[in-house]
Amino acid sequence: MPAANADTPSPAQYPQAQSVEDFRTRLAAVHATMAAAAQRAGRDESEIRLLPVSKTVSEERIRHAVQAGCHQLGENKVQEAKRKAENLADLDIAWSVIGHLQTNKAKDVAAFASEFQALDSHRVAEALDRRLQSAGRSLDVFVQVNTSAEEQKYGLAPEDVAGFLRKLPAFESLRVRGLMTLAVFSADTQRVRECFVLLRELRDQIRETDPDLIGPGDLSMGMSGDYEIAIEEGSTCVRVGQAIFGARSRPDSYYWPTDRPPEQR
Ligand SMILES: *Cc1c(COP(=O)(O)O)cnc(C)c1O
Repeated sequence: MPAANADTPSPAQYPQAQSVEDFRTRLAAVHATMAAAAQRAGRDESEIRLLPVSKTVSEERIRHAVQAGCHQLGENKVQEAKRKAENLADLDIAWSVIGHLQTNKAKDVAAFASEFQALDSHRVAEALDRRLQSAGRSLDVFVQVNTSAEEQKYGLAPEDVAGFLRKLPAFESLRVRGLMTLAVFSADTQRVRECFVLLRELRDQIRETDPDLIGPGDLSMGMSGDYEIAIEEGSTCVRVGQAIFGARSRPDSYYWPTDRPPEQR
């Protein structure tokens, strides 16, 4: 089993999937791991959505993944997601943007995405809603929470989440689905677990005080290195890239800000 959030997985740990057959095998393995984690926690695997994350993956390989059954894909960067959505428009794919968004990219997200998982500012909510209204579309959103108290991480501080959610009903085209987080990048699984527990407890607390504000109260948490722990702690959506597609050559620091080199995390 991979260490939680191993930063530079060896190619052997996450081999590249190329063919449709490779993807079928990999998806089956991830689903089996999800089911085992769910069972350990007394949960039903059907409560948990697998969102394959295809960042850096070529369109040719994505076509094979779609043939193997991936019809929802997560992408961290809007530019890359937009290009893929255009070039793969002939396929049945719902695109989920899971990375930080700048207001000047809201128009693009409103045009092609069906879900945005990294909402953490009023300005972005406002920009998205304006673009969605004029496009006559709506968008599922998750509010991103910084559960690791790392300064460089995106997301709202846990204590600011309820106040933020209270502002969202004004944006009628945004459909709040729940909360999203990235755990601390650490091989210390206890610290990783604490991030997931914090998100679940925050969701439970908001359900008590403001049940109308959090939609179904979904929890998007867990990635290749830590999705089993996330499922044990209540995740309803795991965002899994490398365990399906294979190791990425581009360092993760390209996708989110970090202040330390990977080996020190
Ligand atoms: C890349 C990414 C993931 C998936 O990470 P893997 O290690 O490839 O599973 C999950 N969430 C976000 C926000 C990402 O950018």
